[in-house]
Amino acid sequence: MPVVPASRVIALSGEGAFEVLVAARRLEDAGRDVVHLEIGEPDGATPPHVVEAAVRALHEGQTHYVNPAGLPELRDAIAASLAWRGVEGAAAENVVVVAGAKPMLFYALLVVLEPGDEVLVPDPGFPIYPSVARFAGAVPVRYPLDALGAPDVERLAGLIGQRTRALVLNLPGNPTGGAATTDGLHAIAELARRHEVVVISDEVYGRIRYDGSEDSIAALPGMLERTVIVDSFSKTYAMTGWRLGFGVLPATLVERVTTLIVNGASCTPPFVQLAGLAALTGPQDSVAAALPRLERRRDWLVDGLNGLPGVRCSRPGGAFYAFPDVRQVEERAGLSTRQLAALLLDEHGVAVLPGTDFGPGGAGHLRLSFAVAPANLDLALERMRECVSDLAVAAVTGGGMHVRP
Ligand code: PLP
Repeated sequence: MPVVPASRVIALSGEGAFEVLVAARRLEDAGRDVVHLEIGEPDGATPPHVVEAAVRALHEGQTHYVNPAGLPELRDAIAASLAWRGVEGAAAENVVVVAGAKPMLFYALLVVLEPGDEVLVPDPGFPIYPSVARFAGAVPVRYPLDALGAPDVERLAGLIGQRTRALVLNLPGNPTGGAATTDGLHAIAELARRHEVVVISDEVYGRIRYDGSEDSIAALPGMLERTVIVDSFSKTYAMTGWRLGFGVLPATLVERVTTLIVNGASCTPPFVQLAGLAALTGPQDSVAAALPRLERRRDWLVDGLNGLPGVRCSRPGGAFYAFPDVRQVEERAGLSTRQLAALLLDEHGVAVLPGTDFGPGGAGHLRLSFAVAPANLDLALERMRECVSDLAVAAVTGGGMHVRP
């Protein structure tokens, strides 16, 4: 008899970015050239002083089990660093260190949600939120975003009910790059306080915003005690492969999350934590330099996309994703969003994500990362133009396109 996986894991979904990455690599193995705009990570290297700190720590024997909640010096440094997002009053004891933002999201949702609870998640939004919510036995309720990719506060308010226990915020957000206005953030905080909702604030793109504004929701009055801040070193310091992140939690949750860490991982590797300490407390020039570079790439890609027939793209306020509206292209060609993304990869060698990977609210959109070399953006735009014109010709002549179902 084959071993059958337990039913609880069936509730978990995968993540489109990794699926498309695998499909793209398969094409490359077969000799095809692919422009990678699917995976969301900075193209630059981890700053050298961070790498050196890890190497030094390895030589110094930082290779043993350590405190499951994190090294005291890193927890201190994280608590001190919260000032840049306007958060005051959180101590090192509120901080837990984990292997990336993802495990922290996992632990936060598991520790907050009872079976049957409802949790509000953005639509379109990071697919891990509804996936883990279901795994916890809870019910994800998707809330819509406005035209700029920020939560639509009015419609969000209408979705809060008796069973609503938590709200996941992701500002600036994946996939839209949307960032809330100060008024919007205050309105969401007011709702959370009034309805006693826990906010899980995923701030992995918190330092990648082009207007410089906006604090964490945890900085607003009465919010620190009902917010779990989730962040990592991945996007800010080009450390996606190091696996280092953290949570800032109300005191009542810290012990339980630490128990989850003990059960699942024991602790986070100390040499990786010491690299994180160097990242946080050392020179921040790589972070400062990344912003104008990303902003130039954003403008280049957004302008290029807006030059394609049938494509409209707004300028994201943060993160490093463009989320163009391609509904006209789809309608003209009779393709679904998934088919269009598959066609771009299979026939034109551009790996992008269908917006539907982020929920039904992403239909008619594609997600493109612009944290890549400008030459790749040019190549991607050229190939997309070719795809859009081929589709237009096929629509006029009635010619069939070779598309995956
Ligand atoms: N949260 C969001 C919104 C993301 O886009 C990502 C990665 O793409 C993560 C969390 C995961 O971050 P990490 O690599 O630190 O686990």
